[in-house]
Amino acid sequence: MFKNATIGSGSDARETAAAQTKTLTDEELGILDGPSAGVLAKLREVDVDVANKFHPNDTRRIRRALEIYFQTGQRPSDIYEAQRTDNHDEKLKLRFDKTLVFWVWCEQSVLNPRLDTRVDAMLRNGLHNEIRELFQYYTAHRPEKLGGVYQVIGFKEFLPWLEAGGDTATDEPAGESAKLLQECVDKMKQRTRKYSKQQTKFMKNTLMPKLAEMVEQAPTRTDIAAAVLDATDLTQWDTTVAARGIDVARGFLAPNDSDPAVPDHFIADTPALRSLLVTPKSFTREQWQNFTCDTCVDPETKEPIVVVGGDHWAVHLKSRKHRNAVAGRAKLAHNREQIELRRKRQLEEEEQQQPRGGEEKRHEGEQAADPTA
Ligand SMILES: [Zn+2]
Repeated sequence: MFKNATIGSGSDARETAAAQTKTLTDEELGILDGPSAGVLAKLREVDVDVANKFHPNDTRRIRRALEIYFQTGQRPSDIYEAQRTDNHDEKLKLRFDKTLVFWVWCEQSVLNPRLDTRVDAMLRNGLHNEIRELFQYYTAHRPEKLGGVYQVIGFKEFLPWLEAGGDTATDEPAGESAKLLQECVDKMKQRTRKYSKQQTKFMKNTLMPKLAEMVEQAPTRTDIAAAVLDATDLTQWDTTVAARGIDVARGFLAPNDSDPAVPDHFIADTPALRSLLVTPKSFTREQWQNFTCDTCVDPETKEPIVVVGGDHWAVHLKSRKHRNAVAGRAKLAHNREQIELRRKRQLEEEEQQQPRGGEEKRHEGEQAADPTA
């Protein structure tokens, strides 16, 4: 879809930084090898943005960020930022003039049995033979690692059965062989389900955010869009997938005058489907911020709780834990007030009960309050 890009591979700061590194001084090494509080303090001093990006307990990343700074002389947050820009300039160029992504989606709980059925159908349609052929090749070459072609779903899973003589068995195995084969089939089904979840994750967490980034740069562009089509209910396929898809494609290829000036690049028929296409904004420097709760305390470290990022902070403020802590603290303050109040009253009562001194005081008080008396 994109020019010269395998998106999602995401080169990180390390690679860029590695290009122009220098040897660290003894002082720098001393800081890096020293206590983590010192490392964090130093990182805050040289690059507060990146220091705020990490949780204070994330000592490994904090140390690594400071190391990058020592090695390159560049602020790690600038390196991250430059990479973001690079991505925009180099990688996010579309291969075609117009790109419309269709995502045929299905509810996972409905998809799983459908995938199982597909595996069963593959077995009925001669998967055994394919596996046996590959196994013959495999036994002739005996690779050290199961890489490359052996990684396909539907080979590795059958090795226990093949190694136990399944490759010479009939298509209708019985006894131990049948039991072993069933286990292998189950494994293949599991792996197929897992793979489908990975695909969904890739669409939602990698591809769609990339598209969103491109759209954000040029909100009026009409050369890119994504649509999710609901294939959960197969009896509705003609409507929800086939006809709807054609509709979307027509609108995309020939927008008409009544279309809004700023097109909706993410097409979905329900809010639930839309949430697949539009995820919260990707990580930006604005979100690199630490928030320290002045109410909640980490039960283990007894330190105030620290939350990274505005979104997470908002979640924390709404959390039951935080609200309980706030309520508990208010109650504690209220109790203290009550105790204080009671003590005051007690003192006053004691004063009143002191016979002479109390009397005199009261007279003085009355005189002061009413000088004409
Ligand atoms: Zn809190």
